[in-house]
Amino acid sequence: MDNDCLFCRIVAGEIPATIVHETDTTLAFRDIDPKAPVHVLVICKDHHVDVAALALADPGVSADLLASAAAVAEKEGLRGDGFRLIFNSGGWAGQEVFHTHGHVLGGAPLGPMVTLQ
Ligand code: AMP
Ligand code: ZN
Repeated sequence: MDNDCLFCRIVAGEIPATIVHETDTTLAFRDIDPKAPVHVLVICKDHHVDVAALALADPGVSADLLASAAAVAEKEGLRGDGFRLIFNSGGWAGQEVFHTHGHVLGGAPLGPMVTLQ
């Protein structure tokens, strides 16, 4: 655990979150500032800075993370109409929290995949 990391502190129960799914290696909770009717963050419990670091360090947990994202999509009723899974990685992607997390977004048409500024 990284004591300075917001998502490590959520895993440790030090900061509250609305949890929607949990496994031995992953946790899913609602984004505090949702960008869609359904916006859930799926994270690994161990600290890795982004999805690339996780994939290199622990392919097994990488697979767990995808399975948890799929479970969230199922639980939230997104499988029929579709959903988006986004891993912002690094500065140009706008990553703000440097602990691997996927955004599960759905509940309405999501618009273009990317809008360059
Ligand atoms: P990213 O920009 O990909 O690093 O996404 C970070 C996400 O974390 C943003 O969508 C934030 O709204 C979300 N966030 C920040 N603090 C919290 C929190 N305490 N609980 C839930 N989500 C949070
Ligand atoms: Zn962390």
